[in-house]
Amino acid sequence: MIFRQLFEPLSSTYTYLIGCPDTGQAVLIDPVIATMDRDLAELGRLGLTLAYSIDTHVHADHITAALELKKRVGSAIAAPAAERVACADVQLEEGKPFRVGSMEFQPLHTPGHTSGHFTYVLGERAFTGDALLIEGCGRTDFQQGDADALYHSVRGKLFALPDDTLVYPAHDYQERRVSTVMQEKKRNPRLGGDRTIEEFRLIMANLNLPYPKFIDYAVPGNKQCGVCPADLPENLGKYCEQMTESRQG
Ligand code: FE
Repeated sequence: MIFRQLFEPLSSTYTYLIGCPDTGQAVLIDPVIATMDRDLAELGRLGLTLAYSIDTHVHADHITAALELKKRVGSAIAAPAAERVACADVQLEEGKPFRVGSMEFQPLHTPGHTSGHFTYVLGERAFTGDALLIEGCGRTDFQQGDADALYHSVRGKLFALPDDTLVYPAHDYQERRVSTVMQEKKRNPRLGGDRTIEEFRLIMANLNLPYPKFIDYAVPGNKQCGVCPADLPENLGKYCEQMTESRQG
C-alpha cells in the first residue's frame, strides 16, 4: 500500500492518500478544497490515478474537494449512504466492503458526531473521521449529533477492533498524527477506561465550544459534494482559496 497523511492547516484536517501499488489506483479520504492542488501534485508525483474521493461525513469546518476533484481528474465520489449525499456516485454501507484495486475498505457506521458518520477500516488502519480523535472525539451538538450514539460507536465498534489497529483521525489540533485502539481505550479522557455513558453525556454537554464559524456555509456546500458558496464573507474566503506551497529547498 502507498500511504501519505496530508494536513490542511486552516481546519486542521488530515487527508489520507492511499494507493494500490498493483493498479496505481488511489483514494483520498477527506480531501479539502483548499489543499486540492497540493493533493493532486502528490498523486502525480507518486504516479497514482485518483479513482475515488471518500468522505467520512458531511463536514462542517471545511469544504470537501470531492466535486472539484471529479471535475479535474474524473474521480468518483464515495460517501456514506447514511449521510444522504445525493450527488455521490457510490453510497457506502456497513457490511459491504469497498474495493479499490487490491485494497478492500470495510465501512463502519459510527454515528454520534453526525448521524451518518462512517469510519473506514483498511487492514491495520482505521480512518475514524471525527468519531474518535486522539485523546478526544468530535462534538455532538450539531448535525443530528448524539452523545449516546457516539459512546456506543466508539466503545462498541471502534474499541472492538484489534488493539494494535492504527487510529488515523480527521483532525488534530496539537500536531499528533496517529494513535492506536489500545492507546485510546486506555487513555482517551472522554471515552476510554471505565467511563460510563452518564459521564460521557456530561462531558459533551459541558464542552462550551463556540458556534462553528463555517458550518452555515460548509454543510450546504458539502451536501452538494463540495460547492463553495457564492455569498462567502470575505473573512471566510480562504476556505475556498487554494493553499499553494512555495518550497525553498
Ligand atoms: Fe466533522
